[in-house]
Amino acid sequence: MNNEVVFVLEPDAGRVTVEISQASGQAANDLAQDLGRRVDLNCAKPASDTRYLPVLQPHPATEDESKTDPFSIWLYRLYHNSVVDGPGRRSVIQTAGCSIRCRQCFVPQTHDRKNGALVPLSSILKEIISYGADHDGVTILGGEPFDQPEPVAELVSRLKDRGIHITVYSGYTIEQLIERRASSVHYILTHIDLLIDGPFIGSMRDGAGEYRGSRNQRIVGLTNQ
Ligand code: SF4
Repeated sequence: MNNEVVFVLEPDAGRVTVEISQASGQAANDLAQDLGRRVDLNCAKPASDTRYLPVLQPHPATEDESKTDPFSIWLYRLYHNSVVDGPGRRSVIQTAGCSIRCRQCFVPQTHDRKNGALVPLSSILKEIISYGADHDGVTILGGEPFDQPEPVAELVSRLKDRGIHITVYSGYTIEQLIERRASSVHYILTHIDLLIDGPFIGSMRDGAGEYRGSRNQRIVGLTNQ
């Protein structure tokens, strides 16, 4: 097995992020011990001081919140300052619930939507906007975002109203998504900037390339601005 370790250096901010998902368990543990506490993210495990990865754990909507916003999504968590989930430094909205169930998935805890909470979009937008100056864009991943396409389409619409760059991960291929012929799916695909598509395949993990968990996954540039 390759021991591929990626160091992301940000001299202007004085930060180093280490991406160790392709390293052996022993190498990863040694690095984590040398550099500090490990924080597990999606298909990557950057070693970082938790100050740089603040996480919003979802809370169920209050009655007032549900009344004021008709759109909610099943959210597993929301975190900031990721440099492994798309270009630049990003805030990440991790949805809860995935019907695909790839073998060896890195985040099985996101498969059951009940491990997250139904959160109004207004709460999510408030959190994203509070970090607006500190990120280059927003990534929506899962779980599987296209398992709840209607509220995700509304989320994309509200983010795009604010001119935010959007990357979406899906375990479905773009061809499978287009084949659904659903208006919400079409809306998402015609308004986001990047789609990283396809299931995670453990045997294709080595050499997956930037932002991806396995070699079959593609970075699809969608020219929606
Ligand atoms: S689509 Fe993503 S979250 Fe779902 S099983 Fe595959 S890797 Fe895991």
